[in-house]
Amino acid sequence: MKTFDTIILGAGASGVMCALNSYNKNIAIIDKNNKLGKKLAVTGNGRCNLTNLNTSSIYYNANIDKYLKRFDVEATLAFFKSIGLLTYNDNEGRVYPLSNSAKSVIDVIGNAINKKNISIFLEHEIMSITYKGKKFYIETNKENFECEKLVVATGGNSLNEFLDLYKIKHREIHPSLCALKTTSTRNLENVRISDVEITLENGSDKKIERGEILFKDSGISGISIFNLSTLLARKGDYLGKLIIDLLPFLSENELYDLLVARKNLNVKISNFFDGLFVNQIAYEILNRSKVDENRSSIKLSEKEIQSFVKIIKHLDFAIKGFYNNNQVYSGGVELDALTDDLECKNIENLYFCGEICDVDGECGGFNLQWAWTSGFIVGSKI
Ligand SMILES: Cc1cc2nc3c(=O)[nH]c(=O)nc-3n(C[C@H](O)[C@H](O)[C@H](O)COP(=O)(O)OP(=O)(O)OC[C@H]3O[C@@H](n4cnc5c(N)ncnc54)[C@H](O)[C@@H]3O)c2cc1C
Repeated sequence: MKTFDTIILGAGASGVMCALNSYNKNIAIIDKNNKLGKKLAVTGNGRCNLTNLNTSSIYYNANIDKYLKRFDVEATLAFFKSIGLLTYNDNEGRVYPLSNSAKSVIDVIGNAINKKNISIFLEHEIMSITYKGKKFYIETNKENFECEKLVVATGGNSLNEFLDLYKIKHREIHPSLCALKTTSTRNLENVRISDVEITLENGSDKKIERGEILFKDSGISGISIFNLSTLLARKGDYLGKLIIDLLPFLSENELYDLLVARKNLNVKISNFFDGLFVNQIAYEILNRSKVDENRSSIKLSEKEIQSFVKIIKHLDFAIKGFYNNNQVYSGGVELDALTDDLECKNIENLYFCGEICDVDGECGGFNLQWAWTSGFIVGSKI
């Protein structure tokens, strides 16, 4: 049995941030992976979108203002600068390493950890956690540990049995920031459109996003869809409707006038959308409108043009579920089960940080910001 004052379970973003910001000299980190911060390598498509200059509670399921006040984006950037990471931001406030490589983030974290006297146990999978006589006992696949303070930073979808066993209030987890399965999109597969407006309707709830989408074989992906999925994940109900406005920069009247003017192209109706949409989209519109395609565009009636306008501005798909490519999980340990220092109210000296908490954000660096903020808060308390 190895004994430490404090053990951090999980060497992901929040766990390493916690370790780096603690003055405690007797800390160990345990992780099942073979490297620290391994998952960071895949974030931001390998570039690691580590935070967002516009971070505020509106991008999360919960009000996290009081935590951000203690470690905000500025503090995060100052911290990373202090350990050697240079960054830049794009015009949506998304911050990336200057090298455009997630490996730079992992490297500077690794260097900083090596300078501290922290014991690291990689490839150790946690099998069980027991709390007895004010001590925590951790069983792994290799050896066992005991400690007085325990930080759980094992990410979303982890250690649910432990939470249940010790009655730590947590919300059921659901995949978030994922592509959505819909009624058939097979004819549109691989079509990418860079500027659409998508409305998600689920019961009386509605969420609107504008941006790029990518059609898959039986669903739709893209950052805007990922952001819309947060609404469904938070409800745990992946049903409803996606309504796509293919030309959001035109009003219905403007589009109507544009299509009326195009009648004079005097082409077969099957070619009416050439130059405006790719073939698969044109086919989808014509197919839905049931207009006879073999006539000349000159012959299009007002009613037929109106039906095109309706389809182009309201291309709808019923939602049938989600793809398993989720970036985060919604749900986890409820914030009101924790103190302001993220210590469990039920069990003294037990802390939670990162995605295991019931905090999930939209795409854009907000989830990692929560990992840094919560990791810092816990680190400064242990
Ligand atoms: C593909 C992808 C891209 C993403 N891109 C971004 C992005 O660009 N920007 C952004 O803000 N967010 C992004 N995210 C989300 C972000 O990665 C998470 O919000 C963040 O990593 C959560 O940090 P964490 O420390 O809570 O958990 P994690 O980073 O998941 O770390 C948890 C650690 O605990 C360990 N662990 C879990 N269970 C056990 C066990 N039983 N035994 C031992 N060890 C265990 C894991 O091995 C892991 O190392 C992305 C996620 C994915 C999947």
